[in-house]
Amino acid sequence: MIKRKENGLLIVISGPSGCGKSTLVQMLLKKRKNIILSISDTTRSPRGEEKDEVDYNFITPEQFRKNIKNNKYLEYAMVYTDKYYGTQSDFVDKNLIKGTDVILEIDIEGARKINEKRKDAVFIFVMPPSMKILKERLVNRKTETKEQVIERFKKAYQEINEVSKYNYVVVNDDLDDALDKMNSIITCEKCRVDRIEELDVGNQEEIIHEILMDFDKKRDD
Ligand code: ADP
Ligand code: 5GP
Repeated sequence: MIKRKENGLLIVISGPSGCGKSTLVQMLLKKRKNIILSISDTTRSPRGEEKDEVDYNFITPEQFRKNIKNNKYLEYAMVYTDKYYGTQSDFVDKNLIKGTDVILEIDIEGARKINEKRKDAVFIFVMPPSMKILKERLVNRKTETKEQVIERFKKAYQEINEVSKYNYVVVNDDLDDALDKMNSIITCEKCRVDRIEELDVGNQEEIIHEILMDFDKKRDD
């Protein structure tokens, strides 16, 4: 009866480094069907267990600049000192068209650019329960140097001030609770009336005719 738009939902997730975005996104990918994470290009080096083409496409600054010139990015930004990060347009569009929901885990500048281009995207900000807990998560993750932790922590203050530009905020205190909220937001967004493409209620006369026939049949029985 309801024909919904067949294209997937574009979901933008931001939040300070260490707040738990990647952890939540990996859980969401396991929990939901028909959803994919856009793998970004970056010029930063892999850290810890990260793998090329799984966590990021790790590319050289020359390749990144070439891609910018060739219009390959839906958005890109220099997130930390001299490190580029970018979302490939082709990957996003190809998946949205075939009806797969696409997650972009990107910074606030990238999210702002998406907001200008894609009005139907949904923007979720992941917030740490407190700055003290954020500091603990960042330090305990043991994937950054002391200088990198300080750089990321300083940027966190800047990022948190942008929360009002997002549609939703999820505080990542208890992990399962935060996951439930993220999952519900996506489910709700997919039920929005503006995703209805066609409403087909059938022919009223035909159905009334069927009702009359049903009644007559019952009386005869
Ligand atoms: P981000 O992707 O935002 O940089 P991560 O997902 O890497 O953050 O999480 C940072 C650290 O915090 C990781 O070690 C992760 O296991 C931990 N973490 C994430 N969410 C929670 C939570 N709700 N409670 C406790 N630790 C968490
Ligand atoms: P990290 O180096 O911790 O993996 O990521 C650093 C920051 O870059 C995070 O805020 C992350 O969301 C952001 N980021 C990752 N990929 C992209 C991207 O393609 N575009 C933008 N603008 N930011 C990204």
